[in-house]
Amino acid sequence: MREEAVEPLLFEISRPGRVGAELPPCDVPARDVRALLPEDALRQGLPLPELSEPEVIRHYTHLSQHNYSIDSGFYPLGSCTMKYNPKINEEAARLPGMGRVHPLQPEGTVQGALEVLYEMQQILAEIAGMDAATLQPAAGAHGELLGLMLIRAYHEDHGQGHRNVILVPDSAHGTNPASAARCGYKTASVDSDARGRVDLDHLKTQLAAISDSVAGLMLTNPNTLGLFEDDVAEICDLVHRHGGLVYCDGANMNALVGRARPGDMGFDVMHFNLHKTFSSPHGGGGPGSGPVAVKKLLEPYLPVPMAVKTDDGFRLDYDRPKSVGRIHGWYGSFLCILRAYVYILYYGRERLAQVAENAVLNANYLRVRLQDCYDVAYPEICMHECVFTARRQQRARGVRALDIAKRLMDYGYHPPTIYFPLIVPEALMIEPTETESRETLDAFIAAMRQIAREAEDDPALVKSAPLTTPVRKLDEATAARQPCLCWSPDDPVAMAAGN
Ligand SMILES: *Cc1c(COP(=O)(O)O)cnc(C)c1O
Repeated sequence: MREEAVEPLLFEISRPGRVGAELPPCDVPARDVRALLPEDALRQGLPLPELSEPEVIRHYTHLSQHNYSIDSGFYPLGSCTMKYNPKINEEAARLPGMGRVHPLQPEGTVQGALEVLYEMQQILAEIAGMDAATLQPAAGAHGELLGLMLIRAYHEDHGQGHRNVILVPDSAHGTNPASAARCGYKTASVDSDARGRVDLDHLKTQLAAISDSVAGLMLTNPNTLGLFEDDVAEICDLVHRHGGLVYCDGANMNALVGRARPGDMGFDVMHFNLHKTFSSPHGGGGPGSGPVAVKKLLEPYLPVPMAVKTDDGFRLDYDRPKSVGRIHGWYGSFLCILRAYVYILYYGRERLAQVAENAVLNANYLRVRLQDCYDVAYPEICMHECVFTARRQQRARGVRALDIAKRLMDYGYHPPTIYFPLIVPEALMIEPTETESRETLDAFIAAMRQIAREAEDDPALVKSAPLTTPVRKLDEATAARQPCLCWSPDDPVAMAAGN
């Protein structure tokens, strides 16, 4: 176990005059930089840490070991689908013909890469049950924005540009209303019913109230409670009858992939999160990929370029007169797309369905094994994730979902998603994914059960967690609003202490 007080001292290891690199003697005439750069581009001195190479290596290796990752442990972050990222994906991404191509290379020299893009457009349209797909958006939220831009372009093209309201259920991911607002839409909320599904009566009331202002509805299925919206066909039908289109937030496709298709349920447009369902790495802010699939009616508006297949091979098509234009530099996050492509080909059509089956099985296993200790928000068979609530612990002992999440870190687990969806008080949203073994799930269950006992017997202990991490409980608001992420010569220890 690490000793907490030692950490900040070890962090600051610079010693004046110590060097980690030797430069060869200068073999060009020396010039004064002040003659080359404008005054305002010059700094007065540059205080940098002074270290030897092994010290730098140890420093960064040490920091990397503080990272929690899917390669180091179970990561049940609900709605985020933190599945294992197979290393065969990385091998493909490192092939020189893939990893080292340049977006400005002539098309004739990148036929393999273009074929990957073309095939992924086809494959994702097929998995969606739709007619076409673009790979350009760089994230789920970016896909949402594009999907809404397509809906707007469609309405404008059909003389319905006045439609300015997007309906969003109250269980939706925060990105849904944010994307609608970013696209210039007003949003109207739709209540959930006692079963955690869209309240059909409220949807009808809302539709009647906004009548022909409705541009569309965004629906997550399974929703963020991990429940299948079993009225989905009727919901789509109702919105269509009012002239709106229906958007599927497909970030949660891990429960459906290979088993059920949003296009068949009545949706017109959806996004995928390749960095969730299709195993491209995520977390840490790296590039993601949020392709958008559409029915025929929205195809003309898809962004440029699209990968197309011709008699002379694959090319990029910019000749799309009704396109909403570009929404990403170049052609999207190519290497993310490639990793997902390898993943899909690796499983193939039949075995992809097993991904969904095992994801649902694992979530239900956790639900059943934990439901006597933690209340399930909507107790019934769940899909890819299960939403618990710590209401019982809070009422009995003042132990909150946040405390339970922090205590899990002491047991070596990444915390689940908490306080989301917003309609569940003290929510603990747990998504195990299909890639975890029975033993891992059992060990996690044991930790959760132990924490439930601690919450009962020693609530102060749970409330003071985490006890074993380099820094203890942070002031979350300050950590999020005023993060101190850079080393500063003025206050090197402040950062190490996480202030
Ligand atoms: C993850 C997620 C999103 C957003 O995806 P990003 O890639 O993080 O932008 C949207 N909706 C749901 C339900 C999600 O889980």
